[in-house]
Amino acid sequence: MENFINGIWSKPHSGRYAEVLNPCTGDVVDTFACSDLTDVTKVMQVAQEAYRDWRKTPVAVRARLQHAAARLMREHADELAQTLARELGRPMAGCQTEISRSADLLDFYAEEGLRLKGEIPLHNLDGEKALIVREPIGVVVAITPFNYPITLLTMKLGAALIAGCTVVAKPSEDTPLSTLRLAELFMQAGYPAGVFNVITGYGHEIGNALIEHPATAKIAFTGGTGTGKRIGALAAMHNKRVTLELGGQSPAIVCADANLAVAVPAIVRHAFANSGQFCYRVNRLYVHESIYDGFLDQMVTLTGNLRVGHPQSGADMGPMVNQKIYQNSEIQVADALGKGAILKTGGRRLTGPQYDNGWFFPPTILANTDHSMKIMTEETFGPVVGVMPFGTVEEAVQRANDSEYGLAGYVFSENLSTGLRVAESLEAGSVWINNIHRSYHDVPFGGYKQSGIGREKGRYGVEAYTELKTIYLNY
Ligand code: NAD
Repeated sequence: MENFINGIWSKPHSGRYAEVLNPCTGDVVDTFACSDLTDVTKVMQVAQEAYRDWRKTPVAVRARLQHAAARLMREHADELAQTLARELGRPMAGCQTEISRSADLLDFYAEEGLRLKGEIPLHNLDGEKALIVREPIGVVVAITPFNYPITLLTMKLGAALIAGCTVVAKPSEDTPLSTLRLAELFMQAGYPAGVFNVITGYGHEIGNALIEHPATAKIAFTGGTGTGKRIGALAAMHNKRVTLELGGQSPAIVCADANLAVAVPAIVRHAFANSGQFCYRVNRLYVHESIYDGFLDQMVTLTGNLRVGHPQSGADMGPMVNQKIYQNSEIQVADALGKGAILKTGGRRLTGPQYDNGWFFPPTILANTDHSMKIMTEETFGPVVGVMPFGTVEEAVQRANDSEYGLAGYVFSENLSTGLRVAESLEAGSVWINNIHRSYHDVPFGGYKQSGIGREKGRYGVEAYTELKTIYLNY
């Protein structure tokens, strides 16, 4: 596929294309354009030009278009989900959910945009007022990872567009197809050409040019912490605004009085969804020593029900997206076993006719882990969890916070006071007490520490695409 610039398909200047592979089979699904600096210049000029009118377009008009785009996404949900399944390998049900939730997020942002307000402080000065207003930030470069290509884009896109920004999206090399199709649907919804553009290519080839371009006002990035820090450093050199949603290594604490009938299914679901390829998954567990063995037995039993397979097979989990992501799980398992962890289930690459050509790793539980092991300190981004016993809640919190990451945390205790105190003590942007579900659209999401800078979603997410301006008015 070509780039989508100024409302039409655009061949890359280099004439080069790269393959998108199906992670289940290794088959070529399609190709994407390998863009270069000429393409970056072109797309940034287009987005800057479109910004002149878009920033002046009434918010009500922007909201109507955004609702129309959300409607089109729902009408094309099957087709979009199939594209996602082909490039990502995830089971169809999960792909469909991604599309419908992303459409909901667009609707939410459209309404939130209509509620944006300025302020007038009451100084009570004769003939003078100070007006605090918000203006769109400008052209936004949205750089996204492979794991939820549409959701992670709409978190930026819906907020930026309703605020009056234009967008240049740079999707992951692994999963560019769904993003390109989305841009086409937005045109169909009635957006002016140039308001939402997609440029594809390798991050290390065009990333710097996108960030440094004079027209770029903000970079909204979701991806690995290493990549995010490089982007943040470069953006800082040029005083560009950033939102960085980065990696995670999220802990769950299961206290002695936890309701295991809730805790075990929630943790299993959240550790292995999307084959463990998501940022705020449960990566490590601290379980009170008095319930440790029983908890592990229940967790292993429930995990045994999960089926791994191709998207259309009704399986619960698919493959890893590529060899690099896959290998991380193997490396962390080997590291933990070498240091004395006990393998409770999984741990070895799946083989057989339906698995041999894909990157399939089973849900894996490692017990008796400790913080000398990668599984407890480094992001896995795969279906492996480490479990460690604890004696006191204070010790569990200290372990949970012993991490450079701070995206999410989880605590299970039937004592609400314990649950709240632990939630307040965890160094994380979101904490769930006594259950785990997806993050809501109307509340902020983002990380402490190395997990990022800024927040997406909620009104905070929309405000992040505006600049505050103070107008002193004398009359
Ligand atoms: P990645 O960092 O390898 O790539 C993400 C994007 O950055 C891709 O589009 C890539 O092309 C681009 N990129 C790479 N180098 C670049 C450069 N020098 N300049 C500009 N862009 C560049 O991440 P990934 O492997 O696709 O995704 C996995 C990571 O994403 C994990 O670490 C995960 O935790 C993180 N993630 C975070 C969140 C969150 O909300 N905090 C959500 C999902 C994923």
